Amino acid sequence: MRPPDKVCKNAEPFSNIRKMNKRDITGIAGSYGLAPNKRLGQNFLADDGIASKIISVISPSLDDDIIEVGPGLGALTEPLSRGCRSLTAVEIDSGLCRYLTERFAGYKNVRIEHADFLKYSAPDLYTKAVSNLPYYCASSILFKMALALKKAGLYVMLQKEMAERISAPPGGKEYGALTVTLAYYYNAKIAFNVPREVFYPRPDVASAFVKLERREETLSAAENILFHTIVKSSFWGRRKTIFRALVSSPHLSFDKDQIRNALELAGIDEKTRGEEYGVDKYCLLARLLAAGTNGKD
Ligand code: SAM
Repeated sequence: MRPPDKVCKNAEPFSNIRKMNKRDITGIAGSYGLAPNKRLGQNFLADDGIASKIISVISPSLDDDIIEVGPGLGALTEPLSRGCRSLTAVEIDSGLCRYLTERFAGYKNVRIEHADFLKYSAPDLYTKAVSNLPYYCASSILFKMALALKKAGLYVMLQKEMAERISAPPGGKEYGALTVTLAYYYNAKIAFNVPREVFYPRPDVASAFVKLERREETLSAAENILFHTIVKSSFWGRRKTIFRALVSSPHLSFDKDQIRNALELAGIDEKTRGEEYGVDKYCLLARLLAAGTNGKD
């Protein structure tokens, strides 16, 4: 897909930009015959203060080509589009796309795409990817972004619990396979917490806005596959030692000596557990094991 035409404009202050509140949302929904669809995770942002905080964290510049997943009614699309070179907004809901296409018709730097982002072939040209993520498929969208948008930093709204898992340090109860796997691609930091009252309709749980800075990928394709399998195996059965978890994993086919040697060379005590180690140790383990034998998947 081609990005929208790149038109340089002066970034506009947030205070000048049209905002979305609960009345706007119900008014637009009414006139377009739309109703928030729970199945598609449609909890629209209806708070200027939070939208303004989000825009300051993203800090769009006229060098930015932004992709937004799930623009909804455009609460973030509008202020983002005023500060960036181009913005592609990918929305699954046809009714919302109809509204967005009309609303942004006069914006030469905005393109509205009607698509399921999980099936969308996004060109790898964006500098920033933004999403108030639909909760029902938040981690699938995150991983698709990680694999497809290699040049982009991510700015995402997530359920607070998931945000804490993603940004957890090693050793804690939130730290798990999701943390390590995403840590290979990004340094994640919670920018701020977001109460559920700022969305319409109100979701069941609180959220957090997270900034994920892209890291340089250091593993070859084969090592990368092994890395994911090792991480999955290490956290499979959390009460097992890392040695036991790797030896008994149905996903790996290394023998005990190969695993023992790799752990020793990586400086990992075989009696410790997987949650004690950061992403760099797992990368080293993947390199050491890849240099020996291959895993099963
Ligand atoms: N960005 C808007 C906001 O902040 O008010 C809406 C956020 S709402 C939590 C999630 C949006 O993602 C909805 O507009 C929903 O229709 C859209 N969506 C859900 N699944 C999607 C998918 N697979 N691909 C693209 N958009 C999706």
